Amino acid sequence: MSKKINEFHQKSVDKPDEFWAEQAKLIHWESDFDQVLDYSRPPFAKWFLNGKTNLCFNAIDRHLEGRSKQSAIVYISTETNTERAISYQELYKEVNIFAALLKKKNVGRGDRVLIYMPMIPEAVYAMLACARIGAIHSVVFGGFAAASLAQRVDDCAPKVMITADAGMRGGRIIPYKGLVDDALELAQKPPAHVILVKRGLVEKLDWNEERDVDYREAVKSFDGEEVSVEWLESNEPSYILYTSGTTGKPKGVQRDTGGHAVALAASMSHIYDARAGETIFTTSDIGWVVGHSYIVYAPLIMGMTTILYEGLPTTPDPGIWWSIVEKYNVNVLFSSPTAIRVLKKQDPKFIDSYSLDSLRHLFLAGEPLDESTHRWISNAIKKPVHDHFWQTETGWPVLTPMPGVEKTAVKYGSPSFPAYGYNLKVLRESDASEADPNEKGLVSIVPPLPPGCMSTVWGDDERFVKTYFSTFDSKLVYSTFDWGIRDQDGYHFILGRTDDVINVAGHRIGTREIEEAIQNNGNIAEVAVVGVEDALKGQMPIAFVVRKNFADEDDSEKSELHKKEIMKQVDQSLGAIARPKAVYFVSMLPKTRSGKLLRRSIQAIAEDRDPGDLTTLEDLAAIEEIIKVFKA
Ligand code: AMP
Repeated sequence: MSKKINEFHQKSVDKPDEFWAEQAKLIHWESDFDQVLDYSRPPFAKWFLNGKTNLCFNAIDRHLEGRSKQSAIVYISTETNTERAISYQELYKEVNIFAALLKKKNVGRGDRVLIYMPMIPEAVYAMLACARIGAIHSVVFGGFAAASLAQRVDDCAPKVMITADAGMRGGRIIPYKGLVDDALELAQKPPAHVILVKRGLVEKLDWNEERDVDYREAVKSFDGEEVSVEWLESNEPSYILYTSGTTGKPKGVQRDTGGHAVALAASMSHIYDARAGETIFTTSDIGWVVGHSYIVYAPLIMGMTTILYEGLPTTPDPGIWWSIVEKYNVNVLFSSPTAIRVLKKQDPKFIDSYSLDSLRHLFLAGEPLDESTHRWISNAIKKPVHDHFWQTETGWPVLTPMPGVEKTAVKYGSPSFPAYGYNLKVLRESDASEADPNEKGLVSIVPPLPPGCMSTVWGDDERFVKTYFSTFDSKLVYSTFDWGIRDQDGYHFILGRTDDVINVAGHRIGTREIEEAIQNNGNIAEVAVVGVEDALKGQMPIAFVVRKNFADEDDSEKSELHKKEIMKQVDQSLGAIARPKAVYFVSMLPKTRSGKLLRRSIQAIAEDRDPGDLTTLEDLAAIEEIIKVFKA
């Protein structure tokens, strides 16, 4: 780790009050806080006590003087062929109208609003309108099925729900309204109103006259209305975002207001190296934390232009994202390793035919970035590509390069260093002592968690403590549930979730480590390794491999050779103990729409069990293919 990064980090951990008071200047406070940190009830941290602020004011109002004409949002849908810019002034107008409608529907400070929306500007207006009036939004990703939606409705008991007639994906219309109706049949605590944005994608909608509100009709009477900002105490909740854990019931990650705004503003400058007036393109979805933080709040708080993109990375052709970079002079691009692996399979001409001159950085997160993909994309775009590691719970990066502080050398496969504010340790599982360099341990954070991290589980403080802070009896630490190592130079490597561990004849092996080894074999696009029951050794790894070169799939002799090669590769990288019992070639891996591999489902199928909840699955065909493998 460089001296400068080290000093910056050390200061944040040694003198958090001083460090964060300085960062807090990045946002507007209506009235100043009187204490930076209150940590009198560990592990609960309160930041910027008694300071009053508002996320919507910081994201819009405060930019009106200098940037009213600048685009706040550029909306691009390759699904509906829509492209339009929304200036800060227009955003102000739309958000005020939406806020007026919510108030009319009796929504006020502390009330919950559930947003179940495709990637359309109204989704962003809805989020900001909630923030303006102090309501707590909970955005649920558009792919969740009715039962999952009902579960979330019951957990946060929203007063109002906001949705649209439909979303679109790869040219297919995905009806939202019918699904919301089904969810509300199942829910115990359905909201009084459902506000619906009609996109004209569904001809006939079932309409509940008492409950359903046509957004465009309803806002006509609020045209030009201005709604005053609700000034919130810094620790009042701003949003809830549900995330899955090891149990069946999703956890409502609760985020505060002031700490959230400060953390995001600071990250834009120190991590993303971005400036007001520039453009960021984050290819996630507003239903995920990356969308909350880096499509909506952080770019707008910073006074940037944010690209809101509805569509696939490959339509109309795999050059689409690079064409957006060229056309809108994108300075910072944020995507996921999965998306890059999809693009890796395409002809490089789709990158080469666009000018990427404006682009300063590409950031990738959400899942492990394998070395070969990292190398490939770095060479392809000839720009710094940063792997960074974070979680829904943290809301902003935990391990990351910080080019805004200092540009540091990339180590492929590593998300680099602990971000300022995180007192991060790699701890031995046996006794919570600190692991030596290059020794595998649990990636843990000594509390207090920095500003912007989850403040609790919605409605369940006990679950917050039990889930995240109870790994060790002897030490109060936040567990990321990830294995990792820190090398001799201070670079960190994530080795996979602690809950995906395989135990082969008493030896614990991360599936991620095996995947990394296999990935290094030339002709491989993607790989998933899971542990399956084995009568002799307890568990054995098996591997599902997507090859880059599909032509080989018909050649069984070649395939057998390739399988042997892969096994040898594992032998060589990790030892025979990690060698997969079997390698299966498939055409795709089962993943959620956010790109997370459904390991547990693969594992269940391999062990002849029920694959469990598949509602978040991107493509059912992937699971069907795996079922076929085992029936063959
Ligand atoms: P989520 O909260 O859904 O974003 O999932 C967070 C988890 O994704 C982490 O605990 C990691 O297991 C994984 N993850 C996120 N970013 C990275 C990364 N850069 N490298 C490796 N794993 C990652």
